[in-house]
Amino acid sequence: MRVVLLGPPGAGKGSLAGLLKEKYRLAHISTGDMLREEIKTGSSLGAEIKALITKGVLVSDELVTRLVEQRFSHDADLKKGFLLDGFPRTVKQAQDLDGILEKAQMPLDFALNMEADSGLLLKRLTGRRVCRQCGALFHVTNKPPLKEGICDACGGHLYQRSDDNEATIKERMRVYEQSTGPIIDYYAQQHKLRTLDANVDTHKVCQSLADML
Ligand code: ADP
Ligand code: ZN
Repeated sequence: MRVVLLGPPGAGKGSLAGLLKEKYRLAHISTGDMLREEIKTGSSLGAEIKALITKGVLVSDELVTRLVEQRFSHDADLKKGFLLDGFPRTVKQAQDLDGILEKAQMPLDFALNMEADSGLLLKRLTGRRVCRQCGALFHVTNKPPLKEGICDACGGHLYQRSDDNEATIKERMRVYEQSTGPIIDYYAQQHKLRTLDANVDTHKVCQSLADML
């Protein structure tokens, strides 16, 4: 299965990817995670990326596309299938992705559009906590860890992302509507768009996807 996960911040792309990669043994390519890794290295590029992410605006198409391209040229693991999460985010990125996939001879099966109501998105994002060590996702009320502040999976410390505050979330929503929204049409025109209701819990979303296959 080769799939692009589409949907506004908080639609649950990362949580769904977490379940799907176990269930179907897929590679998970999250450009957000790749960018946060670069920030962790303490490089000057990382510092530039951090400033953009904290504001809620997009990193340049060139930079993220290069990261994805590198992954496709080096990672043999992608042969078993992949989930792209957070990429593409602009029509330019979608076009460049088509080029990358053509070269790799791994055409996309479909883009999954995850729809959810805006009030719910805000609640999911403001309550989200992430494991600093393994990246596992939690939520203060929807999915609390067994021990406060500690990851159930690895015992790492949980933190709140610098862009998960109300002001930055509003900006990310605006950027999504403006820059990422048009990608939905892009995939619809290629007859590769599938849509599902992401207002429900991730296990239910995963089941609706399984029913579609
Ligand atoms: P979410 O989907 O919850 O907004 P991500 O972890 O996918 O979170 O992305 C966080 C931030 O990383 C984005 O707001 C943006 O600044 C940057 N980013 C991630 N992927 C891309 C991309 N494909 N193009 C440009 N910027 C990106
Ligand atoms: Zn962890």
